[in-house]
Amino acid sequence: MTKPLPSEKKDMTNNLMEKIVSLSKRRGFVFPGSEIYGGLANSYEYGPVGVELKRNIQDEWWRTFVRERSDMVGLDSSIILHPKTWEASGHVAGLVDAMVECKKCHTRTRADHLIENHFEAKNESMSVEGKPETELDAIINENKIKCPVCGAFDWTAVRKFNLLFETHVGIVPEAQSKVYLRGETAQGIFVSFKNIIDSTRVRLPFGVGQLGKSFRNEITKGNFIFRTLEFEQAEIEYFFDPETSDWKELYDGWKEAMEKFVTENLGVEKDHLRWREHGDKERSFYSKKTEDLEYNFPFGFKELWGLAYRTDYDLNQHMKFSGVDLSYTDPATGKKFVPHVIEPAVGVNRLMAMVMLDAYTEDGDRVYLKLKPRLAPYKAAVFPLLANKPQLVEIARKIYDDLLKDFTVAWDDRGNIGKRYYAQDEIGTPFCITVDFDTIEGGEDGTHKGTVTVRDRDTGTQERVAIEKLQEFLHGKIYR
Ligand code: ATP
Repeated sequence: MTKPLPSEKKDMTNNLMEKIVSLSKRRGFVFPGSEIYGGLANSYEYGPVGVELKRNIQDEWWRTFVRERSDMVGLDSSIILHPKTWEASGHVAGLVDAMVECKKCHTRTRADHLIENHFEAKNESMSVEGKPETELDAIINENKIKCPVCGAFDWTAVRKFNLLFETHVGIVPEAQSKVYLRGETAQGIFVSFKNIIDSTRVRLPFGVGQLGKSFRNEITKGNFIFRTLEFEQAEIEYFFDPETSDWKELYDGWKEAMEKFVTENLGVEKDHLRWREHGDKERSFYSKKTEDLEYNFPFGFKELWGLAYRTDYDLNQHMKFSGVDLSYTDPATGKKFVPHVIEPAVGVNRLMAMVMLDAYTEDGDRVYLKLKPRLAPYKAAVFPLLANKPQLVEIARKIYDDLLKDFTVAWDDRGNIGKRYYAQDEIGTPFCITVDFDTIEGGEDGTHKGTVTVRDRDTGTQERVAIEKLQEFLHGKIYR
C-alpha cells in the first residue's frame, strides 16, 4: 500500500505539520530556539532524540556519497573564510541592493530590476535609481507587480539586505576586520580545490563532499525547520573535464543518486517527490541547467535538494579574486584547464523534516514514526516488565548495558508496558525488548528461559529471542 501524500495526510490526520511540531517538542526531537527568552524566530534546538536522527541522516549521506564512492573525497572547511571568498562568489554584491522576496516561492530579486522589467514589458520606461525603499515599495504595490517566477503578488517589504551574517575578527575595535559566517559550504570546497588536488591522488572526474553549518539571515517565515537561520548543509562539488566527460550523463547520474538516497536510504515514497527545472529567469546566469528535487511538504511541493551544472564559473571567479591558478593538469595528456562542476546541495534539516513527515503514521489510536531502522534515534528500547522486581531489572539492565556497546538503546521502566510502547512508537524505535517472568522461569514448557520478547514497531507483533542472540538479531534487522 502506498502511503498517502503528506499534503493528503494533512487532511486525513488534520494538521500534520502541527502534529510533527508538537511531537518534536514533547519527545525531544526539536525545541523552539531560545525558548526561555521568548524564542528567536527561525531558530531551533535539536533535542536528545532529534540530534540522533539528524546525525543518522548525516552519517547516511557521508557513507553513501563520500566513503562508499571511489570518486569522492571529503572536506571540512572553515565557517569563517577569507571575506574575499564571498566577493568572488557574488554573495557580497547583494549588500547594497534593495531586495524583495516573494513569500510564496522565495525568489529574491532586486526591487529596481523588478520594477524596471515590469515597465519595460509594457514598453514604458521607468528609472528608479536612487529612490528610497519606501518609494520602491509603493511602486510595486500600486502597480501590483507580480513575481516573475511564480506569478504571485505577495512580496516582503523592500529592504537593503544581504543574507550573509557579518561578524568581526580582532579584539581591538579599531583593528577589527569584517568577515562573514559562510552562507553555503560549497565555497569552502572551491577555496581548498588546489590543496586537494596537490595533496591527494584524485583524478578527474572526482567530487568533494562537505557537511557543516551554513548561516543565512533569512527574512521569510520558516515552516518549522524547513528554513532556518543556521542549518546543516551537505554539498558536493563534482569536478570534470567537459571535453572528455559528457556533462548530461554525469548530471543524470547525480539525479539518480539523489533520488535513490531519498527513497532507499531515507525510506521516502517516490510519489512524494518531483523534479522541477529552473526556467531561464530563475537560473543563475552561469548555470547551464538547474533542477530542484522537491518534496510534497504539507505546505506544498518545495525544494529539498538542488542540482546545478555551474560550469567553470566558481573556480574562475576564485582565480580572478585570489590571483592563484586553480587549473588542473591532466597527468596523462598534460592538458591544463579549469574543470567544470556539478553541484548537488541539500540541507540536512530539510531532509530531517521530510523524513519525520513521511514516517508519521496514525493507525487507530497508535501513532508511530515508521523510520528506516538505520535512521531511528534508538534502535531498541529495553524494559523490565515490572520496575519493582529486582530480578527482572537486573537482567534488563545487563541487556541494556551490553547492547549499548553496539547500538543506541533506550531504557524505560516507568508506567505500564503500553505507555512505554506508545512513547517508543512516537520516536520511531523499531524494537522493544521486554524482560518478563518467562525470562527467568521459562514459561509453561520451560522453553522461554533466557529469552525476552521483542516487539516490532510496525506490525506490533512479538517474538521471543534468546538473550545471547539479541545483538545478532538486531544487527540483521537494522543493517541488512
Ligand atoms: P530556498 O530557495 O529554499 O531558500 P535556495 O535555493 O536558496 O533555497 P541553495 O542555495 O540552493 O538554496 O541551498 C542548497 C540547499 O540548502 C537547499 O536545497 C536547501 O535544502 C538548503 N537550504 C538553503 N537555505 C536553507 C535554510 N535557510 N534553512 C534550511 N535549509 C536551507
